[in-house]
Amino acid sequence: MRRKLVAGNWKMNGSKAALAELDAIAAAATAARGIDVAVAVPFTLIHPATARVPGLSIGAEDVHEADSGAHTGCVSAAMVAEAGARFTIVGHSERRADQGETSHDAWAKATAAHRRGLQVILCCGETEAERDAGRAERVVQAQIEKSVPDDADGSWFTLAYEPRWAIGTGRTPTAEEIGSIHAIARAKLRHMIGERANGVRILYGGSVVGDNAAAILGTDDVDGALVGGASLTAAKFVPIIEAAA
Ligand code: 13P
Repeated sequence: MRRKLVAGNWKMNGSKAALAELDAIAAAATAARGIDVAVAVPFTLIHPATARVPGLSIGAEDVHEADSGAHTGCVSAAMVAEAGARFTIVGHSERRADQGETSHDAWAKATAAHRRGLQVILCCGETEAERDAGRAERVVQAQIEKSVPDDADGSWFTLAYEPRWAIGTGRTPTAEEIGSIHAIARAKLRHMIGERANGVRILYGGSVVGDNAAAILGTDDVDGALVGGASLTAAKFVPIIEAAA
């Protein structure tokens, strides 16, 4: 009942020339019936990307929680929506690590984005030290507790489990480990928002590539993937889309 979602996150990569990759990605998205495909790009590329591939869901990688004001260098949900974004990522571990963002910040950003009509992909995930200390489950539960809005439902809200140590490293948890955290995450969501949790997609992110996509996407409670490096080219991203379809 939950459609799979394969979402790319270009991070601080890309250029106008690189938007040519979106042509084949959009074609694969159209061909892959029954799943959703989306690509988050840097702010500067949102408008040119939507102009180039109007049928593909293009999103932002972050938004500020305020609509406007004295926040030099920041961009609001209203602004990315006007530029053509249909969704935004919030709470990515790179923003938590580099900009000191907290789960409460992620909550505020998700709430602001929803108010402006954007879909939201909210990220959670433990560090390697937290996993080694046997705290992965508790860390993820606490992040969900503090960041998921009370009115979250599957019509606009998606959770992404991205263990930090798996991002960009070529290392992934086993399918069992992913399935176990996803089940715990869904139980936590159910505790918070009741039966609506059943409609919320939970994506896995961290070193997803063509070769491991089918196994990861076939795991119970995995409703799609959030893909970094392998979303930058159609040659690497399209096989992941095809594995989900
Ligand atoms: P990689 O796919 O490059 O590991 O990045 C995952 C990620 O952080 C997506 O948001």
